[in-house]
Amino acid sequence: MDYVKECVRDVADFPQKGVVFKDLTTAFKDARALRAIGNGLEELYKGKGVTKVVGIESRGFIGGAILADRLGAGFVPVRKPGKLPADTISESYAKEYGTDTIEVHRDAISEDDIVVLHDDVLATGGTMMAAYKLIKSMNPKKIYINFIIDLTMLGGRNNLPKDVEVTSLIEY
Ligand code: AMP
Repeated sequence: MDYVKECVRDVADFPQKGVVFKDLTTAFKDARALRAIGNGLEELYKGKGVTKVVGIESRGFIGGAILADRLGAGFVPVRKPGKLPADTISESYAKEYGTDTIEVHRDAISEDDIVVLHDDVLATGGTMMAAYKLIKSMNPKKIYINFIIDLTMLGGRNNLPKDVEVTSLIEY
């Protein structure tokens, strides 16, 4: 993963002052790095019987769809309100300023699914925890949580469920 790490771009003060944004577009556009991300994700979850990969809008769609295809699993999008066309369930969560809501189709997951929840970056864990609650409410057999990047200094893992296996490809 050293090469992928080299390809990640730090953008200072985005989307607001004081934040160093880990920009994965520079890794996704590099063929060797994109292949390495796919290989790394596949290595973590192959042989685990995963049937669905859930990607969180929007940067989680890229790695999530690649992982789903590698595993021969289906892909499920978790989206911002009002984007999904059919019947949805939703979950709201606190952000630094105000609250945010995410949604998933009510029929997206069934009780015999083994699910990987995927997003590009773990920061505080608030978004992933909300996605976890959404998917958990549909009662799948098992849930795993995965990120490409874990910003460990923010301690986001402490805000995720203790009994769930959490993995990432790169740590900062
Ligand atoms: P979280 O605080 O874990 O709920 O993160 C919220 C969302 O913003 C996640 O989907 C991350 O992809 C993204 N995000 C938060 N902080 C960063 C950062 N420093 N660099 C890149 N993405 C970030």
